[in-house]
Amino acid sequence: MWHLATNFNNTRNEISAICGERAAIVGAYNDLLKTSSLQDSVSNPINFKVKYIAMSSYKNLGEDKNSASPCADCLSWLNTSRYFDNNTTIVSLEKNENSGKYTLNLNSIEQYLPYRNDVVNVIDKPYDKLDIKFSQSGLISAQQKGFNKQDIIKIAEETQQIYNLNNLSEVSNHNIAASIIANGKTFTAGKIDFSKRWYVEPALFAASKAIEEFGNDTKIDCICYAGNSLFSDNYGVIHNDGVVNIKTLGMLNTKYATPETLVITCDRDKINVRTIKDYMPEQFKFKQKYKI
Ligand SMILES: [Zn+2]
Repeated sequence: MWHLATNFNNTRNEISAICGERAAIVGAYNDLLKTSSLQDSVSNPINFKVKYIAMSSYKNLGEDKNSASPCADCLSWLNTSRYFDNNTTIVSLEKNENSGKYTLNLNSIEQYLPYRNDVVNVIDKPYDKLDIKFSQSGLISAQQKGFNKQDIIKIAEETQQIYNLNNLSEVSNHNIAASIIANGKTFTAGKIDFSKRWYVEPALFAASKAIEEFGNDTKIDCICYAGNSLFSDNYGVIHNDGVVNIKTLGMLNTKYATPETLVITCDRDKINVRTIKDYMPEQFKFKQKYKI
């Protein structure tokens, strides 16, 4: 089953646009619903997994030199596990200027989002007993920024304290806390639910506090998250929707953070120290040539 769709641009507010990728996914899902009875869809989860997402720009076939890449909004969708898995593949066409030859690019979703299956937990043992596991770029970046082991333990502990104190996410029952270190100062925030669908993303909230204080000079060196990434849906199926918000990383990366900004998370026995470019590899960054 396949569905063709395009970007739908409305106004300049938070929900101003839906990209072609997401429009096509929703279209295909609705096509599938047409083939099942209402009773089926109420009593059983619809088995819907996206296999291929083919992307093209507004140019004629082959005229675009670079293959397209999903935006941070779409990557945030693809970072979830309900309708996407590691077999989901992004397909695009590229033309070599010199040879005139076409290349069909197939990139697995994992190439765009290497940590999409990463499980994040809230820690129940002393932080100084945890191993610190650096990615390659996390290690280089931590050294360059002068972050030592104690700094990393401190920010992870402080973030969990905010997690423990936060009582504003009871609507979704999915608590998350985040800390930002910007210009040497730590800013923290817990997730605030308005409804099941609407909430304030804590890393963006913490970053906003820093941006309010330091304005255009804001330099975010570190983002730390605390929370549990697994949740059970209405059918009792466990999904991993992550705790690290890809959209927030994408947004901050456009101005106040850099690909080298540290991203710290915890699971049962270790603290992970990575960077934004680990979560969103640079070779896929904003290839679309348009501004959101
Ligand atoms: Zn998009």
